[in-house]
Amino acid sequence: MTRLTRRAALAGAAALPFAAAAVRTHAAAPMMGASNPPYNRFRLGEFDVTTILAGTRTVGDPQNIFGMNVSPEAFKEVSDAAHIPTDQAQFFFTPTIVNTGAELVLFDTGLSAEGTTAALAAAGYTPDMIDVVVITHMHGDHIGGVTNGDAPTFPNARYVTGSAEFDAWSAMGNDTFDAKMKPLAEQTTFIPGGADVTGGITAMEAFGHTPGHMAYLLDSGGSQLLIGADFTNHYVWSLAYPDWEVKFDMDKEMAARTRRKILGMLATDGLPMIGYHMPWPAVGYVETRGDGFHYVPHSYQLML
Ligand SMILES: [Zn+2]
Repeated sequence: MTRLTRRAALAGAAALPFAAAAVRTHAAAPMMGASNPPYNRFRLGEFDVTTILAGTRTVGDPQNIFGMNVSPEAFKEVSDAAHIPTDQAQFFFTPTIVNTGAELVLFDTGLSAEGTTAALAAAGYTPDMIDVVVITHMHGDHIGGVTNGDAPTFPNARYVTGSAEFDAWSAMGNDTFDAKMKPLAEQTTFIPGGADVTGGITAMEAFGHTPGHMAYLLDSGGSQLLIGADFTNHYVWSLAYPDWEVKFDMDKEMAARTRRKILGMLATDGLPMIGYHMPWPAVGYVETRGDGFHYVPHSYQLML
């Protein structure tokens, strides 16, 4: 057996500079375009925490949604500095699964059952394994996957959501809420901020995006993480500039106050967060920058 040394390999390459390129006219593998693995798992204390990519799509004219109260020039300047375009944005929809050791808890259900169950399967779970479905708020991209046709997607699950959120949407007359969530009222536990979903998972009021929008603090083995849901919806156009108005925030002033409060807490305490619409895999840290904040994507901290 011949052992090719590094020097011999370099010499061989030098002797035949273009030979290999000249022979080969087609790549052996087909071009497949951009893709992402659909799940990302890490340990937090005694918990397994898995984010799943239930969907992603490209959306045009993002200033129709973010930075509604700033000039196009300011929007462009901030976007240029962050190396992101102003004519389109990539949206991500990221439910989280927490295995506490006692229960498997799913936070939000994606746009549809199909997208969520496919990502769930990739992560090694089946819908019947889910013990608890926590709904952070009642927007369609969070409750869309609760049912699959007429049947519940997660047949063995109980449901938990904020009482203020459920009450507000009950009074609103919203078709998606009325179809997906209202029929589940009897299987749903309604909780206030500060209440526990189960051991180590506590609700935190994050009102503004919707009337009773809730974030959830995980606490296990001395480690903490915030599942922030939609209290901030873009890592630059909302998180970095918390006072920029977002179309989907139902009470824009309250949403901005909530952003400043929670982002300030995350930055001060150095806590990681999962944001439902943060860039995949949706895990990061927050630091203060100027009058706002800066999103630092997770690298390997939670693998250690
Ligand atoms: Zn959302």
